[in-house]
Amino acid sequence: MKALRWYEANDIRVETIDEPVTAPGKVKIQVEWTGICGSDLHEYAAGPIFVPVKEPHYVSQDRAPIVTGHEFSGRVIEVGTGVTRVQPGDPVVVEPILSCGECAACKKGKYNLCKHLGFHGLSGGGGGFAEYTVVDEHMVHKMPDGLSFEQGALVEPAAVALHAVRLSKLKAGDKAAVFGAGPMGLLVIEALRAADASEIYGVELSPERAAKARELGARVVINPKEENVVERLQELTNGGVDVAFEVTDVPVVLQQAIDATIFEGETVIVSIWESEASVQPNNVVLQERTVKGIIAYRDIFPAVMELMQQGYFQAEKLVTKRISLDDMVTEGFKALVKEKNHIKILVKSQSV
Ligand SMILES: [Zn+2]
Ligand SMILES: [Zn+2]
Repeated sequence: MKALRWYEANDIRVETIDEPVTAPGKVKIQVEWTGICGSDLHEYAAGPIFVPVKEPHYVSQDRAPIVTGHEFSGRVIEVGTGVTRVQPGDPVVVEPILSCGECAACKKGKYNLCKHLGFHGLSGGGGGFAEYTVVDEHMVHKMPDGLSFEQGALVEPAAVALHAVRLSKLKAGDKAAVFGAGPMGLLVIEALRAADASEIYGVELSPERAAKARELGARVVINPKEENVVERLQELTNGGVDVAFEVTDVPVVLQQAIDATIFEGETVIVSIWESEASVQPNNVVLQERTVKGIIAYRDIFPAVMELMQQGYFQAEKLVTKRISLDDMVTEGFKALVKEKNHIKILVKSQSV
């Protein structure tokens, strides 16, 4: 079958590899659509971050070169013995977290905080940028009627956004700011709408992304090249937002996000970082503010699909380009690294 494999930073290849085979407790999926994610770009441009290179990953027992792609939907075509959650023919999305099931976090059900955390499609064992992939039964969620496969490919990134908002201190009626209106920032804006934030502000350089942020629910989008973001947000909100979401991984933005919150405000870091970011801790201390991180999601895929059925996180509004597996390197990764006006690029895994 055809698959995209990561070899090292700046070296990803579309190749023909063996089709994965089903085993007891496992589900074989014919992949339909897979989204290109910020993490895929980080691995491409500056990896490895999650890709195991020297040692095999604790759970997948696999290492580079590995098949990538962790935001995908598809159809079950075969199940191993003992599988009861799904049957052949079912449309599914995959919750790609790999966790050990044995560490302290896993034992408390917080599998996204597993000390061996990995992702199917980043940490070995297969992935969505392939015609087929095989996953453990517990990773599969059956899609409800009415959700398209394209929509299914957005469940994973929308789950990150919804988890970020759910773990924040935001209450209905609160004010929020989202720093960065790339795909994840835009999904956070929608998750804030779902959580009944009263005022949502965006901070974004790209005019295309700023327009999209307004379309999806941001009241005002500030261009940090043209205005002092912190002053403007304080002015608009009468002192600062209750919660700021940092979704850029640009070092200077972290301090801005903290400073844009009101006293006792909270900053939620959603980005994965390529470098260090410095902050003045007094700006946290003297206003009793909080800074919190979130990683991935847990126990939230069904809720995301429920919200999608209500009209949130719609693919038609977020997908700006559809490409084939063959064109991934040039049309996908290189385009996304170069142009910042794209939102979500989806990859079709089956050749038509
Ligand atoms: Zn992702
Ligand atoms: Zn664990």
